Order: sequence, then C-alpha cells, then structure tokens
Amino acid sequence: MSLVPITDMLQDAKKNHYAIGHFNMINMEFAQAICEAANEEQAPVILGVGEATIKYMGMDYVISIARCAAKRSRVPVALHLDHGSSFPVIVQCIRAGFSSVMIDGSHYPFEQNVELTKKVVELAHAAGVSVEGELGSIAGTEDDVTVEEKDAQLPTVEEAVSFWEQTKVNALAVAVGTAHGLYRAEPNVRCDRIADISSRVDAPLVLHGGSGVKEDIIQQAISAGAAKINVNTENQVAFAESTRTVLDHKPVIADARDFLREGRDAIKETVRAKIRLFGSNNRV
Ligand SMILES: [Zn+2]
Repeated sequence: MSLVPITDMLQDAKKNHYAIGHFNMINMEFAQAICEAANEEQAPVILGVGEATIKYMGMDYVISIARCAAKRSRVPVALHLDHGSSFPVIVQCIRAGFSSVMIDGSHYPFEQNVELTKKVVELAHAAGVSVEGELGSIAGTEDDVTVEEKDAQLPTVEEAVSFWEQTKVNALAVAVGTAHGLYRAEPNVRCDRIADISSRVDAPLVLHGGSGVKEDIIQQAISAGAAKINVNTENQVAFAESTRTVLDHKPVIADARDFLREGRDAIKETVRAKIRLFGSNNRV
C-alpha cells in the first residue's frame, strides 16, 4: 500500500473508541519492527519522524524506508512529521512525501498558533496531507526542546473548541498531564479534560508521552476520547536493554546484526503489546 494520511484511521478510532499507535522510527530496524507488529496485529499504524531524525537519517532515507515499509504492508501506514516546528519544515516534508504532518505552534501565543496552523492546514490539505495541531504545552524533552513540569499548561475546553473551529486540523494534541520521555513520578492525566474537549471538538484527540503511563489510565484516556497515542521512549528502552544484554553476554561481536536483530524483536513485541492495549488490533 501507499502511505496514507491519518484522517480516516483516526476518525474510525474515535467513532469506535480505540486508539491508533504512533511510534517513532529512527532507522530501518524501528520501521521494520513497527510495521511487522502492525501487520501481525492487523492494525493501522503511524510512523512518526521528528526533525532530529530527518537530520540523523537524511530525508531521502526517511521517505524511502517509510515507503518500503508501507508497500510491504497489508495495513494502512502513515508517515507523520512529529512536532514540526516551522512552515518551511512542513513545506519540505510535504514536498518530500510525508502523508501527514504535525505543526507544533504550542509555544506561541494562542492567536499566533492559530495563524500558523491555519496556514499549514491550507497547504497540507491542498496536497492531500493530514494535519495535527497542538494546544497547551507538554512537559518533558522532545528532540532539543525541554518544557519544565511547572511550565506545562493545560488548554481550556473553550480554547480547544476555538482552535479547532478556526484551524480545522485533522487531529488535535492537547496537554493533559502526560510528558515526553521517562516519568520521574506518576503523571496526573486529566481524563476529565480529554472527555470535555472530545465531546465538543470533532477532531480526534492525541495523547503525547504515552510511554510508561499505566494501562488503566491509557484505557480511561481512550474511553474519554484519545484516538492517537504517541509512544517512543518505551521502544527506545526495549531496544537499548535487549542489545545491551547481547553485548554483555557476547564480549566479542564481529557482526552488528547479532544485536540489531535482538533490538528489532524487542521493539516489535513492545509495539504489539501497545496495539492490543490501544484496541487497534483486528481493525483492518
Ligand atoms: Zn510529542
């Protein structure tokens, strides 16, 4: 299959009370693991790529690997720019072949965020590309940007309604208490706020910082209306731990595939478990 926008898969998820997994890919092994897991679970899936990964891999590698993963899949696969920071970056990604983009204007004042997101939606929709916007600030570190917990802000229901009405984004990320990276303390996830916003905004809601959030909280968030959940850190940890185990037990390694294979298998199992938790299995 070709890469698809996230619009249809998220609308179905919102309607039927499950969530689509967004998993970041940083190399071929991550892409293979995520898409193999999605195919085995018969789940639509989103490959997330941030700007730091585009710098790390090169745009042509990102596009080629994602297209190859989609072509080999029997399930819908989207290639989604994660936390796009500016209009020029969005233009570059749409031109290169991304099927979906996120514009993160959450660090700007509300009206400026609306203006930037509207401009992105206009361009992206003309190209058949879906758009995720962000409202409020999510704590933690994403690529090179760090937001301290005390500075994280939750949007009000009125702000979310106004943002969605003005921008018509296909998905809306709202800060509701989760954070990027590893949690130091139990997050206070405001499922009540997700429910309030979800009942008044047609756009499916996105939960960032899904790694390490307890299973029952994830299920509550999905019941409240979260239709896309972003997971990265848990896959990174699974990859690091499994490859470290191989390296610890085999001091002499002459073939990198000996540990890359283990790392890839560990990501695949992590992704499969998330897909089942999110309820997106057997949806294709
Ligand atoms: Zn995020």
